[in-house]
Amino acid sequence: MSSDHDEEFDVVIIGAGFNGLYQLHRLRQHGFRVRLFEAAPGLGGVWYWNCYPGARVDSHVPNYEFSIEEVWRDWSWPERFPGWADLRRYFDHVADTLDLRPDIQLSTRVTAARFDEQDRRWAIETDADDRVRTRHLLLCTGFASKPYVPDLPGLDGFEGPCHHTARWPQEGLGLGGRRVGVIGTGASGVQVVQEAAKVASQITVFQRSPVTALPMRQRTFTTAEQIEAKLHYPELFRERNAPPGSLTEIRRLDVGAMEVSARERNRVYADAWEKGGFHFWVGTFNDTLTDEASNRAAYEFWRDRVRRRIDDPAVAELLAPTEPPYPFGTKRPSLEQDYYDVFNQDNVLLVDLNTTPIDEITPTGVRTTGGEHDVDILVLATGFDANTGGLTQIDIRGSDGATIAQRWADGVETHLGVAVSGFPNMLFLYGPQSPTAFCNGPTCAELQGDWIVDCLIHLRDHGLTRIESTPEADRAWTEHVNEVGEATLFPKADSWYMSANVPGKRRQLLNYPASDAYLERIHEAAANGYEGFVLS
Ligand code: FAD
Repeated sequence: MSSDHDEEFDVVIIGAGFNGLYQLHRLRQHGFRVRLFEAAPGLGGVWYWNCYPGARVDSHVPNYEFSIEEVWRDWSWPERFPGWADLRRYFDHVADTLDLRPDIQLSTRVTAARFDEQDRRWAIETDADDRVRTRHLLLCTGFASKPYVPDLPGLDGFEGPCHHTARWPQEGLGLGGRRVGVIGTGASGVQVVQEAAKVASQITVFQRSPVTALPMRQRTFTTAEQIEAKLHYPELFRERNAPPGSLTEIRRLDVGAMEVSARERNRVYADAWEKGGFHFWVGTFNDTLTDEASNRAAYEFWRDRVRRRIDDPAVAELLAPTEPPYPFGTKRPSLEQDYYDVFNQDNVLLVDLNTTPIDEITPTGVRTTGGEHDVDILVLATGFDANTGGLTQIDIRGSDGATIAQRWADGVETHLGVAVSGFPNMLFLYGPQSPTAFCNGPTCAELQGDWIVDCLIHLRDHGLTRIESTPEADRAWTEHVNEVGEATLFPKADSWYMSANVPGKRRQLLNYPASDAYLERIHEAAANGYEGFVLS
């Protein structure tokens, strides 16, 4: 037993990514007694786990950082889109600057949580044998805590190194001169392929559906540039956190694609293309993700730009098909630097899993219906049990003893994407049915995070010891999320946004696609005495 046996806290936080660290900082400022448990031996959340070659963020500096001045004042990024190693250094800087470490327990996975109705507290257990009690439980487990590995026959018998991108060996794994197989072409797949193409003797890329990757326009920063840029940070962060487009950082135009001339449309697309990053996805017309004709126009611009770079027409048709495989932007676009160019290299082979699916993984490679592909290293860039996996994998039992997995067996229901009935005094951040994957991580951690902190202060200051959402409120919010989703093109794609990447998971939109409206709704609920919750 550790010395924490039966220790009492006001708040226990699970997870040391942007959300967990922000909660710890703010709650401590307000005098709460807090303990943060993190399964990893280091800070940073996804940036601890995703240390595969090429892993980097797709949100540009300075959006992907806290707006806390004492943190940004002494911090400089070397690149516009920082890689995992710099992000990890950043998290250490955050913890040191805000003196967070004394309240963080690393290498400790929370395994179970039980709500004790008698004294209105959670009893928490960890794999390090801690037993602690807390009034409130904050789940900051992120949307990508649980890697998804498809059930591929023979996978266990592969003789070489085989790793999911989010469980990459911390000591690294050399790809130089090796034959590398990459299964999956989402954001992580794109990043690995670009790095591997530089050094591997052969890369075989197994693609099920093509990614609509966008130009990153990566560049390095000079120190002078950063000093100059910081003069504008206060204003930039104010803008980042304000409507329109709060949480998303990039503003779209107030006009539909078909409302302007073809010439103007092309000018807007070309401009966003040159800016790089997510501008082409969310920074052009206001109906790209809601109107089929506008969406198609964006797709065709993307397709034509990409195909120019690919020599072999058959490969071009697989990577950027004539007909859109799904509405543009309804699967997460990745950012790329030379992803499409590497397919012109002799050492890069694209295998289409639609026409030649995987039969089995053999001890030495991958056998598809089209033939055998020998590889030395197998990379599983196969994504996550997104949005819910991090929560349902913990044995959390609410007031009636049911687990959260059981509560959501027929589909996810939450109130405002922060709570679920039956689980009093438990709130989650960056969770299902909040803007989550549609917003900039750190902005969400601050804006949704401030709401959570205010809620806990409200409870404490009013002598309230219990908060729980009602089943009616959960149902109403779920219907609302579905309705907002139906007005978009997202339901038309089998994406992880729709929970469609994991067999057996109910198909539903788990990310709320209207960030300004979201912030309005949560603040309105608070102003009305935490509408949809029972406080006592
Ligand atoms: P996370 O960073 O996921 O941290 C959650 C932590 O909880 C993890 O460290 C995990 O170990 C811990 N944990 C989970 N369960 C337990 C348990 N039972 N006990 C103890 N600890 C536990 N967002 C963007 O805005 N822009 C991007 O470009 C972007 N790129 C991304 C690229 C990748 C490869 C991934 C995976 C995600 C990306 N994201 C991006 C989303 C990213 O998740 C968020 O930006 C942000 O990091 C979320 O922070 P978080 O604190 O909510 O969760």
